[in-house]
Amino acid sequence: MPARKGSDFVEALNSSSRDVQIHGERVEKNVADHPAFKNLVRSYAALYDMQHDPALRDVMTYESPTSGDRVGMSFLQPETTDDIERRRKMSKMWSDYSFGMLGRTGDYLNSSVMAMASAADWFGQADAQFADNIRNYYEYIRENDLLLTHTLINPQSNRSVGPAAQSDPFLAAGIAGETDEGIIIRGARMLATLGPIADEIMVFPSTVLKGTPEDEPYSYAFAIPCDTPGLRFLCRESFDYGRGHFDHPLGSRFDEIDAVAIFDDVLVPYERCFMIRRPELLTGGRLYTETSAIVHMTHQVVVKDLAKTEFVLGLISTLADSIKIEQFQHVQEKIAEVIIALEIIKGLLRASEADATKNRWGLMTPKWEPLNVCRNWFPKTYPRFVEIEWKLAASGLFGLPTEGDAFGDAREDVDRYLASASMDGVERVRLFRLAWDAAVSAFAGRQEVYEFYFFGDPVRMSGALVNSYDRRPYMDRIIEFLHRDD
Ligand SMILES: Cc1cc2nc3c(=O)[nH]c(=O)nc-3n(C[C@H](O)[C@H](O)[C@H](O)COP(=O)(O)OP(=O)(O)OC[C@H]3O[C@@H](n4cnc5c(N)ncnc54)[C@H](O)[C@@H]3O)c2cc1C
Repeated sequence: MPARKGSDFVEALNSSSRDVQIHGERVEKNVADHPAFKNLVRSYAALYDMQHDPALRDVMTYESPTSGDRVGMSFLQPETTDDIERRRKMSKMWSDYSFGMLGRTGDYLNSSVMAMASAADWFGQADAQFADNIRNYYEYIRENDLLLTHTLINPQSNRSVGPAAQSDPFLAAGIAGETDEGIIIRGARMLATLGPIADEIMVFPSTVLKGTPEDEPYSYAFAIPCDTPGLRFLCRESFDYGRGHFDHPLGSRFDEIDAVAIFDDVLVPYERCFMIRRPELLTGGRLYTETSAIVHMTHQVVVKDLAKTEFVLGLISTLADSIKIEQFQHVQEKIAEVIIALEIIKGLLRASEADATKNRWGLMTPKWEPLNVCRNWFPKTYPRFVEIEWKLAASGLFGLPTEGDAFGDAREDVDRYLASASMDGVERVRLFRLAWDAAVSAFAGRQEVYEFYFFGDPVRMSGALVNSYDRRPYMDRIIEFLHRDD
């Protein structure tokens, strides 16, 4: 099957029967039509339709090496730096569609599985079958253009001890048994963003897995369809309040929904297992670093960061222009901060591509350090963007009628009192509603926390950066200087 169209995605979703709990309701059928998900589904369908736009065909797709069909570019296993660039251009098209507000577009996890499949022998060190499984899985999702979610983290009950020492050993999803067909998984994982509308869920180890013998029941990596019996999604409330694009320009389109994934003795067939009971291999993120999956995922994420930063610069510049505050020095300083951030991201992305080399599995792979720096820096930079947005927009974020008033009885007031130096009342309200949805709404709050924790806990990520960064040459120079005679 070639790269999907939006309608293929929606039809597949509606024909699957899954277990989704939201707003006191259990949704099993026609998830794509449910008010909490339908606008998100529409956005995802638009992304898939881009694959069939004749003008974008060569950007969005390439010819499958097995079927000859056109398949999604994010499945491409790069052999050259040109291939890396092709992957980046595709990701930028998808990221721009939502200004980077959709953080889980298919290319994110496709990149991960793509890299893991090329490093299949890493999985094979535990069992040759695991190597075949990851290769087959990659080909399966590529040829069927499936949308994946993932869940890595155990429930937040008692973080002072590991999963085995919790009050219930199956609070965190663990292996509860095995049959001739596969492993039985019982317990929960946090969070699976997009879970209710994804085709498949990857259930992989967290980087904080300690790798002790007690961690054995929690040591596994597998992927199953989201409609697998016994798998349930418990959603947070939706931030798409059904009030339309004028009132909630971002939330009404891009609320990616987060859910706790609960496994009620779910049978995971052996052919969908990529590793079982090997804590020493799955500890500390070895799976992601030794396969280079983390590098290709981060390359995609930095492209998303770029799209998001371009959005912020466009938004605050339009805001400043509309109420004529751009000439104030502190406003210019804040706009400059975002320009500097934008150029830093472009530079890091370019450096990662310019210094790409083949990894030990023969896959052309961007340079890790610039990407690693960006993934450590952006989580702390994005909250500053939000602060700049509200500092520049100020009370304009709250003197803000909704569509019903702007186009209803209050139209005269809106035209008279809410117009700005460069915009009529309705246009200015439209702009400030966008700023509100980017800086202060529930959607905005979720984006801020999401960016902060995107790759895990920034505190522990800093530790990983320090431990993996080769500082020895700089230390040697210091020691050498201490003994310099001249
Ligand atoms: C909106 C959103 C969407 C998400 N979507 C996904 C998803 O799709 N898939 C997925 O797998 N994950 C997802 N996550 C989870 C994300 O990976 C985690 O939030 C992140 O790894 C941090 O883990 P935690 O939330 O369990 O925080 P915790 O680990 O519980 O940390 C809570 C606080 O305690 C501190 N702390 C806890 N333990 C330690 C320690 N050992 N050392 C030092 N400090 C510690 C932390 O610094 C932090 O301040 C999502 C998170 C958010 C917020």
